[in-house]
Amino acid sequence: MSRTFPRQVDVAIVGTGPCGAAYARILSEQAPGATIAAFDVGPLLADPPGVHVKNIVDPDARARAQRASEGPRPAADDTPVDTLDGYADAAPRLVRPGTFLLPDGYRQPGEDGLPGAAMSSNVGGMGAHWTGACPRPGGSERIPFVNDLDELLTEAERLLHVDAHAFDDAPFSGEVRKRLGAALDPGRPDDRRVGPMPLAVVTHSDRRVTWSGADVVFGDVTRANPNFELFPETLVARALVADGRVQGVVIRDQRDGTEHEVRAHHVVVAADALRTPQLLWASGIRPAALGRYLNDQPQTVFAVRLRDVASGAAPTGGDEPAIVPQSGVSWVPFTDAEPFHGQVMQLDASPVPLADADEPAPGTIVGLGWFCAKDVQESDRVAFDDVEVDAYGLPAMRIHYRLTETDHASIAAARDAVRRAADALGDPLDAEPLTFPPGASLHYQGTVRMGETDDGTSVCGPNSEVWNVAGLYVAGNGVIPTATACNPTLTSVALAVAGARTIAGALAAERN
Ligand SMILES: Cc1cc2nc3c(=O)[nH]c(=O)nc-3n(C[C@H](O)[C@H](O)[C@H](O)COP(=O)(O)OP(=O)(O)OC[C@H]3O[C@@H](n4cnc5c(N)ncnc54)[C@H](O)[C@@H]3O)c2cc1C
Repeated sequence: MSRTFPRQVDVAIVGTGPCGAAYARILSEQAPGATIAAFDVGPLLADPPGVHVKNIVDPDARARAQRASEGPRPAADDTPVDTLDGYADAAPRLVRPGTFLLPDGYRQPGEDGLPGAAMSSNVGGMGAHWTGACPRPGGSERIPFVNDLDELLTEAERLLHVDAHAFDDAPFSGEVRKRLGAALDPGRPDDRRVGPMPLAVVTHSDRRVTWSGADVVFGDVTRANPNFELFPETLVARALVADGRVQGVVIRDQRDGTEHEVRAHHVVVAADALRTPQLLWASGIRPAALGRYLNDQPQTVFAVRLRDVASGAAPTGGDEPAIVPQSGVSWVPFTDAEPFHGQVMQLDASPVPLADADEPAPGTIVGLGWFCAKDVQESDRVAFDDVEVDAYGLPAMRIHYRLTETDHASIAAARDAVRRAADALGDPLDAEPLTFPPGASLHYQGTVRMGETDDGTSVCGPNSEVWNVAGLYVAGNGVIPTATACNPTLTSVALAVAGARTIAGALAAERN
């Protein structure tokens, strides 16, 4: 049986990760009469739509959901998961569960490329697999021409359910922050000192904590909206444009291969930072900046064992929350003087075998991840082939990407900074920090970047509407125009809020 798709809607949303979901949520709140169709090429993993896979309790069901997110060629069942195996090898291309790597075209001869370039194809997008770290950007990370950025970030925190205090009781987290603060806080502004990482999590009345996925962003208001429909396993093949205005989308039902046209007054492309420009390219929308200014945050990791703490048991007994992989997360904020974003995670197990026989107490093994801001270059780009297609039949991607001298210097500085932080905490588990290959941060930005004016260096304006294509909006990390080191999703959701409000305003004006 063929599925029935709407012939016409007010708003078509491509992609159901946190950013597509943010459009659906704000429109459900502010334009409840508007008809909205959201399409995702990937399958529905579980109920409610967009749920984080780590909230799926049954391990087999969770593993199935991860595999189902891995695009056209899911990894074999015995693929190692949640491990750093392979990162130190000569050709490191680790795949994280729930994601799939760009199979080819990720590096051009003589360039660094993005060997870690990855995507997720499932309802909820990468937001069904993410760590949920939601720091606010600071200093030069902030977008100078978005005047209401702080209010938008506050709204994004509401949508993602961001909480900086969900794991305040995690064993040793106070001690970790005390040691880091003593070493790193001097000279920092008050709002950029070491603190708990704001995390997108929901703490339930029984103290159970679940991870926010797109389900939390959609919220009850979207799920209860009779004018909202979600279509999994539906590829958007192109957007239709005529007379400088978007007219709708052409969709392909992945279940039976049939194509359908859905007319729409407004189209939001929230298909991740690689596939959003791909869809614009496939639609013949090719502004000069499309796919360019691609940037990923060079990432260096290190692990230590906390010095001078009791081993063998957590410091407090009773019903304290146990350490889980995301708990006890501390934040060393980016500043222009210290231009790194530090994410410090107390682990429930050691990432490397320990020499001594002592079982480490929960929370005493600490992973440090330091992210740098890329030296953004116009020439770093995802380009698309006019002939060759990918496994979805869309233009094949070619990544052009180089680390500049400035990047090499900032990576070296980040390695020093992470060593300093590690020294403050304890004894390193490895001799040297490990710098991941480009792309491993999974924070690709800039490919549909926002600009204040249409001067050829941006794809969309400050409300995310594509220059010269009325009614077409882009969303996701690709919209961020600045070189950020902090995790980008909070900022992208904030920008999505602004775009959704603009559409809600336009719909109200169209009705009057
Ligand atoms: C393991 C992991 C940890 C992470 N940790 C963090 C973190 O701590 N903090 C942080 O800020 N970020 C983190 N991220 C990144 C974060 O998940 C992304 O920034 C976020 O999901 C981006 O949201 P989005 O809606 O823009 O895109 P996505 O979540 O990538 O969703 C895009 C959706 O578009 C769909 N799509 C693509 N093309 C088409 C098409 N043509 N037609 C229909 N549908 C299409 C895809 O199937 C996908 O569902 C992490 C990611 C991973 C995998």
